[in-house]
Amino acid sequence: MQDFVYQSAPMRVVFGAGTLRQLPDELSGLGVTRALILATPRQKDLVASIQEMIGERFAGVFTGAVMHTPVEVTERAMETVHDIQADCLVAIGGGSTTGLGKAIALRTDLPQIVLPTSYAGSEMTPVVGQTSGGIKTTQSSPKILPEIVIYDVDLTMTMPPKLSATSGINAIAHAVEALYARDRNPVITLMAQEGIRTLAQALPTICVQPDDRAARTDALYGAWLSGICLGAVGMALHHKLCHTLGGSFNLPHAETHTVILPHALAYNAPAVPDAMARIATALGVSDPALGLHDLARKLAAPASLREIGMPEGGIDQAADLAVKNPYWNPRGIERDAIRELIARAWRGDAPQTTIS
Ligand code: NAD
Repeated sequence: MQDFVYQSAPMRVVFGAGTLRQLPDELSGLGVTRALILATPRQKDLVASIQEMIGERFAGVFTGAVMHTPVEVTERAMETVHDIQADCLVAIGGGSTTGLGKAIALRTDLPQIVLPTSYAGSEMTPVVGQTSGGIKTTQSSPKILPEIVIYDVDLTMTMPPKLSATSGINAIAHAVEALYARDRNPVITLMAQEGIRTLAQALPTICVQPDDRAARTDALYGAWLSGICLGAVGMALHHKLCHTLGGSFNLPHAETHTVILPHALAYNAPAVPDAMARIATALGVSDPALGLHDLARKLAAPASLREIGMPEGGIDQAADLAVKNPYWNPRGIERDAIRELIARAWRGDAPQTTIS
């Protein structure tokens, strides 16, 4: 075993079904009295039940959260923060809503309670990606890490199969890259392997039977584990590529992760035999890259960058961008091989494990 450093995040996690009911007690524990509730327009109906539940501690609501945390939206939300003199943020939703809460916390250091409704995992990280003038930049700070996360399986039951599939594979991607992270450690490795296993088992059930509570519970548990991995160790080629593609071509987040993951893993495969063996065990397959490709097909998730809106002419541009800012990856970043990876992902081909 290699030497390691392990640091756990200072955060309280409540996990279960019906745990939303514990929100009033959690607010009391924080000693706050004026909560601002954050949501997306699509999930604004959830706000009414929270308002009723927390009574006088409901100070206001902002339901304008959107993907990629545009700075203009955060600035509008900040006006509400000041107008209602909020002393706490309650973010209920997927990664977009969590991102808005984190962006406000970065500016105010207000305590956050997050109620995740997707599998994105953002609630477990001290990182926020913010978009300004079409450019997304990430920032890390202890202020960004939520104080409390309440995982309520009931809140995930409404997630449509398509979002469940792509959001679940987005979570698997965090765990996959954690297994070959330069700063990996044995605890995170255990969590990553278990995260992949539970998600890969649960997602096919969820996609045919979205109201299967046991599968939903397993998937949320796997997403939590994978989110911890994302927050604890460094990510590599897969996350960098998705960031570049999403930012350059305005591609949807979870779908982009779903399409790229098998190809990024195939690229790194020759350099990470131990991680490949662990992913193979977790998926119950012999070829992990192909296994992830097959899982996505089984879930009827998007297979190509073409179908999620990337122009073919963007392949070379994306390859140039991917090699422009150097970052650590277990295998060196080779432009021609990266271009081939992106081209295969654009067409929706199966991953090629022996790119050299
Ligand atoms: P999202 O939050 O945008 O959700 C997608 C849509 O699904 C939204 O309209 C949302 O309201 C809806 N939705 C979410 N949960 C639902 C449910 N249970 N039932 C019905 N509808 C539901 O998408 P996402 O994939 O969860 O998050 C993506 C965003 O999160 C991106 O901006 C990404 O960059 C960010 N992210 C950040 C980190 C980090 O660590 N900073 C990690 C992962 C993702």
